[in-house]
Amino acid sequence: MLEREEILEIYRGYDRRSITVVTLGSHSALQILKGAQDEGFATAVICKKNRTELYRRFGVADRIIPVESYSEILSARLLGKLQRMNAVLVPHGSLIAYVGIRGIEERLRLPMIGNRGIMRWEADRRLERKWLTEAGIKMPKETSNPEEIDCLSLVKFPGARGGRGYFMVNSYQDFRRKAERLIRKGWITEDDLKKVTIQEYIPGVNMYMSYFYSPLKDEVEFFGIDRRYEANIDGLTRIPAIDQTEAYIEPSYVVVGNAPVVIRESLLPRALEMGDAVVEVSKRIAPPGMLGPFCLETMVTHNLEFIAFEISARIVAGTNPFINGSPYSYIMYGDNMSMGRRIARELRLAIEQEKDELLLT
Ligand code: AMP
Ligand code: AMP
Repeated sequence: MLEREEILEIYRGYDRRSITVVTLGSHSALQILKGAQDEGFATAVICKKNRTELYRRFGVADRIIPVESYSEILSARLLGKLQRMNAVLVPHGSLIAYVGIRGIEERLRLPMIGNRGIMRWEADRRLERKWLTEAGIKMPKETSNPEEIDCLSLVKFPGARGGRGYFMVNSYQDFRRKAERLIRKGWITEDDLKKVTIQEYIPGVNMYMSYFYSPLKDEVEFFGIDRRYEANIDGLTRIPAIDQTEAYIEPSYVVVGNAPVVIRESLLPRALEMGDAVVEVSKRIAPPGMLGPFCLETMVTHNLEFIAFEISARIVAGTNPFINGSPYSYIMYGDNMSMGRRIARELRLAIEQEKDELLLT
């Protein structure tokens, strides 16, 4: 793990009046860059050549840095160039997917907004469960042994494969039958089956709850909720049951977009409590704890209970519907406060108050 002190040394060499906010061109980059621009920062995006046109056309990046592969961000050449631009990185899901936790922890010599030591806790299911359970948040029952399946369950695979190949089962026999069918179709491999997580299926509705922890205020702000729009599971409901059965269409959970949701006001006190608890525990398990945005990925049941199946310790793409603000950010900040902008606002205020090192690792 890179020492925080080493990163802060790099930052101390920066000209703080001309910081560049940089991110990878993917996931929530438009939002992050637009938010940074709105707060007066220079911006840069690192992206594959086939995506440069996207960022050019939207005009969100002062500099577009094309790369062959995202892992180039770990090269001394690119890191040197970014450091000379006084670059501060905003991490997101694609950074974790493409650069990997080890790359981020051990080689990414660039100051980032957020706690790089906590990313491992979202990427490792065992650590994630420890964190959420200690925060008093309910999680679905889970096993890696298919022979233990005793209720309707969802079979998941590791890594950011975006729900492809997930399938539902209700017994071991059912698991074998469906797994074999998916292998024949080439959706999964025999090897994948050794790495499954089988999670109790929670009937309810999915709500992805986004928060921002401000180290300057020492307070958690509730920022908004999205639900995922997934192919083909969200399309299957438009096919009558009888036709589904006859055609047998394999369900999949590939995220293709996000849609905004609001929650019953009576559930907000619990939502706040969960955010506070997650931050409290984070300070103990991975000092200095959560810094900036995070998201609790929950199912809400008909008993009005939240069951969390995941946590993301950084901005999620589910904040993208709210580039001009969410209902909740509107109450706190008025118009146009996206999560991307909130991150840049915290950095700007921290620089003004000379507390910027609080935010960076
Ligand atoms: P992309 O650059 O859009 O291909 O996304 C890269 C990775 O980021 C994907 O593999 C997903 O894990 C994650 N991701 C991108 N968009 C979303 C989204 N809207 N919701 C959740 N995860 C996403
Ligand atoms: P994931 O890729 O883990 O975020 O989940 C893919 C889809 O399955 C999302 O629509 C989730 O809301 C849903 N999902 C994930 N875990 C569960 C669970 N334990 N019970 C019910 N739905 C789930």
